[in-house]
Amino acid sequence: MSTPSVIVVGAGFGGLGVAIELQRNGFDKITILERAADLGGVWRENTYPGAACDVPSTLYSFSYEPKPDWPHRYSGQADILGYLHTVAVKYRLLDRIVFDTEVTEARFDESAQRWTVRTANGADRTADVLICAVGQLSRPRMPDIAGIDTFTGPSFHSAQWDHSVELTGKRVAVIGTGASAIQFVPAIAPEVERLTLFQRTAAWVVRRTDRNYRPMHHALFRHVPGLRLAQRLWVWCFLEFFSLGLTAIPPIRRIATWLGTRALRGDIPDARLREKLTPDYPVLCKRVLFSNEYYPALVRPNVDVVTEHIAEVVPEGVRTADGTVHPADVIVYGTGFKGSEFLWPIKVFGREGVELDRMWDEGARAYLGMAVPGFPNMFLMYGPNTNLGTGSILYMIECQARYIRQAVRYLSDHPHSRLEVRPETAAAFDEQLQRRLLRTPWTACSSWYRNAAGRITNNWPGTVTAYRLRTRTLDPADYLTGLPDSIGIR
Ligand code: NAP
Repeated sequence: MSTPSVIVVGAGFGGLGVAIELQRNGFDKITILERAADLGGVWRENTYPGAACDVPSTLYSFSYEPKPDWPHRYSGQADILGYLHTVAVKYRLLDRIVFDTEVTEARFDESAQRWTVRTANGADRTADVLICAVGQLSRPRMPDIAGIDTFTGPSFHSAQWDHSVELTGKRVAVIGTGASAIQFVPAIAPEVERLTLFQRTAAWVVRRTDRNYRPMHHALFRHVPGLRLAQRLWVWCFLEFFSLGLTAIPPIRRIATWLGTRALRGDIPDARLREKLTPDYPVLCKRVLFSNEYYPALVRPNVDVVTEHIAEVVPEGVRTADGTVHPADVIVYGTGFKGSEFLWPIKVFGREGVELDRMWDEGARAYLGMAVPGFPNMFLMYGPNTNLGTGSILYMIECQARYIRQAVRYLSDHPHSRLEVRPETAAAFDEQLQRRLLRTPWTACSSWYRNAAGRITNNWPGTVTAYRLRTRTLDPADYLTGLPDSIGIR
């Protein structure tokens, strides 16, 4: 192969990150297919009031593309999307993105040794390498609650916020208390007449120290790069420390428990409300939520926290199991995403027409989160078991981009070859990973990290540093590299 052609599916941080890495290393036959009319992935989709990233921007940005003038330590959605646009323009990626093009199917063609990608508008495209970068949180999940369609007022998911719906002076029901809800509840609470928050499981919430950056900070970050790097390093170490608590050093979890308990005691004076908001599962099992505004919003006189089980949605609001109807003019579903249904609903067929969904019927898995046996020359960005309990997913994305760049380099240097991860390599990796996952707190409750069968399909059981070391060098011995006649049939 000369320069391999590459199709990247998705123009979020993952898709753009891998495209930049390839392009910077001379691989420029890249096409990015994006289902929406704009780039940005989750940062384009999630426009709910208060949408922001709870990882400091100094770390939630590409290491090679620092931005000295973030307006805040924790940036909002618009600033992050703006950053991604600036990066895309700088690396001249816009011409490579085909917008409004939803991929419905990808199929490996044995005879041509190429991937054929079908899109919703019926057009087929082919490439030597397929990189799926559709993220883990791109498909909103509506809850399975009876009567949802009977509600007579407007209702929407937090990731599809309907900005045409005026909330001022309205009675708003919010279902869900995850990372999204804890951001939009404080943002809308002051303007609504009544906010009824339906909580199924109390979250662990800890405070954070945000700050505005002024021109003086921007000048310092611009002209004293060491300062910016030191800040990034400090955030990195802080988050790596807590990720050790998830895995190697469980006593660290006590610090997180203490921080959560302190925030709850400090911000919720009312004992009954405090009891409702006290989590009944170990800290770090679900994602810890960072907010200084969430608890104070819940003590507002116009906010009720309802912990009674939801029986159904009725035309005039939400009825709980005790028979109470909680009237609402608007319902907002902060109920998360189909996180364990990787790549869904794209149908992917590998060697011998094997469907990826069938390979994954017991849960998605991939070698290093990137490569699947039977799917030659296909790689995943932010694939199975690469999400983090703490830390910046952007660095994981950078590790993956570098690894995949090595794969493309190998294919370029070895024209009569392909890369298909060895089944035994992938199986051994998965077994070791799942063993380690059993020692993490993620097994102690249900969350989007686990599929219906309880398998943890999303998270990486280690530090970001460990992932970096694991993915630093692509070892061709992990892969079947010969063309069809020398590849054993399973
Ligand atoms: P989520 O964490 O999955 O939370 C969904 C919420 O909806 C949970 O409280 C869940 O309760 C509740 N829920 C689901 N089905 C329900 C039902 N049938 N009845 C009642 N309650 C129901 O979703 P999310 O808040 O959108 O966050 C998803 C992920 O996005 C986060 O974990 C994070 O990785 C990412 N995110 C990140 C940021 C950031 O600042 N970096 C911000 C927002 C989102 P249970 O807990 O009982 O299941």
